[in-house]
Amino acid sequence: MKKTASFGWAAVIAACPLILSSSQSAPKVPTTREMNLLGWQEFAELVPAKIATVLLPVGSLEAHGVIPNGTDNLAPAAMAADIAGRLDALIAPPLNFGVTPGLKAYPGAVSISEAAYGPFVEEILASLADNRFRNVIVLNGHGGNTALLNAAATRVANAKRVRILVVNWWTLADDITKAVFGQNGGHAGNNETAYIQAFLPEHVHPERYTKEMAVPNPSPAGSYFAVPTQATILLYEKGQGYPDFDPAKAKDYFRKVNDRVAELVLDTIRRWDLAGLYR
Ligand SMILES: [Zn+2]
Repeated sequence: MKKTASFGWAAVIAACPLILSSSQSAPKVPTTREMNLLGWQEFAELVPAKIATVLLPVGSLEAHGVIPNGTDNLAPAAMAADIAGRLDALIAPPLNFGVTPGLKAYPGAVSISEAAYGPFVEEILASLADNRFRNVIVLNGHGGNTALLNAAATRVANAKRVRILVVNWWTLADDITKAVFGQNGGHAGNNETAYIQAFLPEHVHPERYTKEMAVPNPSPAGSYFAVPTQATILLYEKGQGYPDFDPAKAKDYFRKVNDRVAELVLDTIRRWDLAGLYR
């Protein structure tokens, strides 16, 4: 009886080489965390059985002082690459175009309408949920996207019973900016410039910088509004946030911001788990 049973299994395995090869080749860790690089077979082995979380970097292409036009994409993509391991997450391809009408006039900018962006991002979130990720973490690099991301996240979370977190890193890191630089930051100010300088120093151009390029954020308390925005370095507070191009501070800032984002994601997932939501 025993002999027959084991012979039976051997026959099944011999007849179905796919069963044997897939169990032999099942990876212990993903060959990559990037959805762009994963094939569908490995993806199926990972999600949802082994990996519950996906990071979606989103941003914009727009002028940023003396740092790259793609800063709002490059920052969350670098952040995702740095923290995906500790979150045991996959990384979705970044959404590199966003809503930036105020800076559209500056060379190299691409802006899409709110009417196009809202449904586009909503369908991507829904598709990630359909792939059975339990936690969808949107790493946002651009303030012009935030309201639309929040609205799309709310609709998809409730419709698909999935957990979604939208992170605006530059606001989350507000106290880190003040601690590292001793002052507040700005759009393309000390904070964003340092973050990019930490991993792309060759694309930061202090030789092109003058203090004249920076102005206080438009529309303080609704007092005025200019389109096109009259500068690309927009200080959150008057007189604070000018880039200082200090490489040591840049490295320190990059590490502290990423630690803060990772900590927020882990804490939020822990709280969702504790509450037993959409498990
Ligand atoms: Zn930016």
